[in-house]
Amino acid sequence: MIAFDNSYSRLPERFYRPAKPAAAAQPQLIRYNEALADQLGIALDAGGEARLAQIFSGQILPVGAEPIAMAYSGHQFGHFNPQLGDGRALLLGEVIDREGRRRDIQLKGAGPTAFSRNGDGLAALGPVLREYIVSEAMAALGIPTTRALAAVLTGEPVIRETVLPGAVFTRVAASHIRVGTFQYFAARGDTDGVKTLADHVIARHYPEVAIAENPYAALLSAISTRQAELIARWLSIGFIHGVMNTDNMAVSGETIDFGPCAFLDEYDPKKVFSSIDQRGRYAYANQPGIGQWNIARLAECLLPLLDEDEEKAVAVANGVLSGFGDIFQAAWLAAFRAKLGLAGEDDSDRALISDFLDLMHQGEADFTLAFRALGKVAGGAEEALLATQFANANGLTDWLVRWRGRLDDGRSAAAIQARMDAVNPALIARNHRIEEAIQAANYGDHSFFHRLTEALQSPFAEAFDVADLCQPPKAEERVTRTFCGT
Ligand code: AMP
Ligand code: MG
Repeated sequence: MIAFDNSYSRLPERFYRPAKPAAAAQPQLIRYNEALADQLGIALDAGGEARLAQIFSGQILPVGAEPIAMAYSGHQFGHFNPQLGDGRALLLGEVIDREGRRRDIQLKGAGPTAFSRNGDGLAALGPVLREYIVSEAMAALGIPTTRALAAVLTGEPVIRETVLPGAVFTRVAASHIRVGTFQYFAARGDTDGVKTLADHVIARHYPEVAIAENPYAALLSAISTRQAELIARWLSIGFIHGVMNTDNMAVSGETIDFGPCAFLDEYDPKKVFSSIDQRGRYAYANQPGIGQWNIARLAECLLPLLDEDEEKAVAVANGVLSGFGDIFQAAWLAAFRAKLGLAGEDDSDRALISDFLDLMHQGEADFTLAFRALGKVAGGAEEALLATQFANANGLTDWLVRWRGRLDDGRSAAAIQARMDAVNPALIARNHRIEEAIQAANYGDHSFFHRLTEALQSPFAEAFDVADLCQPPKAEERVTRTFCGT
């Protein structure tokens, strides 16, 4: 049973279109996230895997499900597209989880909707597995993210550059409301729609702002803060979202839409993986600037609600926007201080962090393994253990002297390392491993996908049996490009 309570479909009809899952020839369950299902209070014990496959491919609609495709617009690579919407996703409905939080349950790849334009509404197996792996890895890293509830093969082919197995991904999110959802109404001059949506978002995600003197300004500020903090967390683990269009930014502050996303291997702030991001708009280090740009687009939508007087409204919006940088910087500093094992705050910390990053860049050090090795050095290991992560370790010894000076505050070496190991993952969802899981699955072997997904549940442990998954790619394994997979 799934105890649906669908607040979004109680909003005005122009917010969505009814949708109907497509028929699937032979649904077959790949993976079901029991722990998440339990959190959501979902009990679907009877019928086993076959029934789960029917439900999470859309063949059986659970009682209370009201499938809809949500309307939204969005700036894609800086260009506004007024008509996007859920083209290959449908919201089954919402549940209240065990902690009292409202969560969306959405099927992705279950066939065309009113917003599919020329698309087929389907998803190939590869992108489904990628989203499963990465979203669950992000959750295990403690980063706000949508979650993976199920992955099901449909038994239907999906035609991309080649014929691929079709699959449906079941996504769970605090909500699927995006910056682009606000843009949809704003672009139509539908201020009532913007207000209705803003009130819904306040009630759902930011109830504390309802009592503010100017609730809509407080809403903008709260969304902006969560986004700035989220992006700082991304940078702290080397995550590149890859397609930070305004339709791929959730107002809840969760990471959403894992298309061409990737993790850094060697540190390079300009790194881009996405094949469609030719100008590097969404490069690793550009992400905070883009986050702020997207919040500016949200602010434009909210202007009529911020103040009756347009000039005053613009001033309010600008106030929030100019705060984005400071909030991001503070969150970034806090995250990287922790990565370096620093306690307290010192004015020299920013330079210490930046200089380490510069050394990593120049030395082509693996972002994940270098921080992990630094933790070991803090715990008493030889400095050589860190130096081997660098193709060129010039300047590292001098930097370590400065770092040790700053670390020296009476804590034991073991305590410092333990603190660093708790924030510096040993295991990330390496691009080449994701690729390997997808390739095997395309030939019907899901075992590596399962192994990788399970290993990523414990990213901070350095378990002996996942040593191979922790390693950076060999030259021939290296992934240089990722694709949206649509
Ligand atoms: P994305 O950037 O991948 O999040 O997708 C951008 C837009 O394209 C969204 O409106 C999607 O719903 C739509 N879209 C992507 N793939 C498909 C597909 N296979 N069929 C229909 N619409 C799609
Ligand atoms: Mg999207």
